[in-house]
Amino acid sequence: MSTECILFVTLIEDARKGRADEFVKLAAKNEGLDVEKLLRLIAKGYVVIPKNVLRDTIPKPIGMYASTKVNVNVGTSIDHVDLDEEKEKVKVAEKFGADAIMDLSSGGNLDEIRRTLMKLTSLPFGTVPVYQAARDCKRVVDIREDEFFKVVEKQAKDGVDFMTIHAGVNKVSVERLKRSKRLLGVVSRGGAIIVGWMIHNDKENPYYADFDYLLEILKTYDVTISLGDAFRPGCLVDVDRVKLTEYVILGELVDKCREYGVQCMVEGPGHVPLDMIETSVKAMKIATENAPLYLLGPLVTDAAAGYDHIAAAIGAAVAGMAGADFICYVTPSEHLGLPTVEDVKEGVIAAKIAAHAADLVKPGQREKAMERDLKMSLARKKLDWKTQFETSFDPEKAESIWKRRRTSSEACSMCGDLCAIKLVESIFQTKEI
Ligand code: SF4
Repeated sequence: MSTECILFVTLIEDARKGRADEFVKLAAKNEGLDVEKLLRLIAKGYVVIPKNVLRDTIPKPIGMYASTKVNVNVGTSIDHVDLDEEKEKVKVAEKFGADAIMDLSSGGNLDEIRRTLMKLTSLPFGTVPVYQAARDCKRVVDIREDEFFKVVEKQAKDGVDFMTIHAGVNKVSVERLKRSKRLLGVVSRGGAIIVGWMIHNDKENPYYADFDYLLEILKTYDVTISLGDAFRPGCLVDVDRVKLTEYVILGELVDKCREYGVQCMVEGPGHVPLDMIETSVKAMKIATENAPLYLLGPLVTDAAAGYDHIAAAIGAAVAGMAGADFICYVTPSEHLGLPTVEDVKEGVIAAKIAAHAADLVKPGQREKAMERDLKMSLARKKLDWKTQFETSFDPEKAESIWKRRRTSSEACSMCGDLCAIKLVESIFQTKEI
């Protein structure tokens, strides 16, 4: 193992000693949390703040009492490689409030793409290293066991702050998957690579078998591990025992991460019916002893192609209310193709609205979140359009809609002179209507 960078104390270990550096103090200030309280939450593993020791990263605490965060995935595919377009996606994501960026590139020069995109942003930056391990081989089943780890170390040396690693798949869970009646099997790309490799080679998942070595690498650079959910349901009928038992394995790995002093969060589904979201979130929180929960969606219907960002935002708001901490955005092109820059904008705004809706009822964040809604309501009462635009999630769109049918009235074109706000204001001021 490389000794180029030797880190003796990770952020979680520092927190256990009650030490708060400027990074943690800034995190507490941004979240409106007491520094001592934030330290206690980090020490227990209930909150993580992804930051590679080699990178200057903006603090974005994820977990209990912290505001709900939004991740934006960018990256090339094998069929479409345009680095300029991916750079634009990062800029748009940041402009509309993304809290983290993940590079999921699988086409082109992956090292160059990752390093270029990382330089564009100071937001926490994440990857799924097994994608690169798979691309470096002709067939995913030919990945050498040491390559699973080498790629993690290479990306850690580049400064990647958090990594999705599907360490929770093991031989027992693959057998359970084979016996299941799943419709879509495995829909996680990283999960499918691991499962395919294990079955073809008849070997244990290297990340599971040698989890201690993986933690050693991550600890050296203080990289946060995001324990990937390989068996997330890819459709509503696949919420099953395979998924539920994966929570238990992930929970055991969370214990190891905490013992080792490596920050960790846990990923979750996927596609979940609306009435199962709360149970699903609470089960994950129990199995992982309150590890920060990172969810893709969940999508509440399988039939929203072209509008999956809306299906996901509905699920994310409900999941956030139940305790999910980190939402991975979904774009209108989900299930259909690689997103465009415009899709990224639509996706991040939908996820930000869901996150804000969750924060409005989240302990520790309610009052702060409500300030924005109160500001908007007061601006509506005063027909103060400028403030309304500024307070919205997409000021340019809000203003352009207002302008397109604008009249001479100070109200908007919806009701014109019959503007309810104007009428009531006049009555209260005993003016003539
Ligand atoms: S005109 Fe109607 S929609 Fe527009 S601000 Fe007044 S009450 Fe609201």
